Amino acid sequence: MILENSFSGKEILTWRNFQLAKGGNSVDLDWLLDLGGGLSWSDLQILKISQERNYQLNLSLQELSVIWMRFLDQKIPLQYQVGRCPWRDFELEVNPSVLIPRQETEVMIDLALSKVNPCEKGIGRWVDLGTGSGALAIALARSFPKWIGHAVDCSENALTLATKNIEKLVSDSEIYMHLGNWWEPLTTWFGTFDLAIANPPYIPKSNFEKLDSAVREHEPHLALFGGDDGLDCCREIIKGSMNGLSPGGLLIIEHNCDQSERVLSILKKNDFYEIEFANDLEGIRRFALGRYTKK
Ligand code: GLN
Repeated sequence: MILENSFSGKEILTWRNFQLAKGGNSVDLDWLLDLGGGLSWSDLQILKISQERNYQLNLSLQELSVIWMRFLDQKIPLQYQVGRCPWRDFELEVNPSVLIPRQETEVMIDLALSKVNPCEKGIGRWVDLGTGSGALAIALARSFPKWIGHAVDCSENALTLATKNIEKLVSDSEIYMHLGNWWEPLTTWFGTFDLAIANPPYIPKSNFEKLDSAVREHEPHLALFGGDDGLDCCREIIKGSMNGLSPGGLLIIEHNCDQSERVLSILKKNDFYEIEFANDLEGIRRFALGRYTKK
């Protein structure tokens, strides 16, 4: 019996070298072999010493070549083509209506866990503002299993995808989905959010040309650009937090690499306290934190 998409190790290695000769790098190609082909990095190492054996892939080498060519020629991100993206300890479905979840954003969950003890606090309420694929919401639901969650997005397509990811990955959690702008759909729960988290669009409009074309041409501009200085959404979120947060509630927000001082000063001006910054995995100031109590 000949199995579909079954290839010898030798065929796969020859294919891999041929694709690399066209361009790109082995990290991206091996990501495609793993996420698209189902051949993990460790499978690939075994394959190198057992080349005569046959390996079963999820897609044919021909199909993988098409994806690789679209990645090289049209810069279509592999994650959109494969339709999936690993993030923290789970895998999300992604499509061009949402930003591809970035590794640096993973840190926000560790920051939340270091600032709020989910057990000590018993039941609480979190919100993910601008949820996109639902990445932060899913990780929050897993980290704060007894809490009630809310996820907001102004894109209907993004909210549909986030709902799908949430139903698949954290079906037992109590999470309410809202279509709308930042805090706007949440007025009913104002004053009750113990934790608000947001990775808003923060790239200044003027950086458009400087962006990598894979990002600029394929990721949703709605999730990328935050007005002239990049901080339009950030200001709106901070303002809304003053009504939305419970007494002493915590806001964690992601921003661009050069916006730390400005975001911290917006928090300070608005009487947030325990204001601090945190670095991303590359040591760049990427997050601002602060608590708020309404007077
Ligand atoms: N970090 C993303 C990038 O640099 C931007 C995400 C955002 O604007 N929130 O492509």
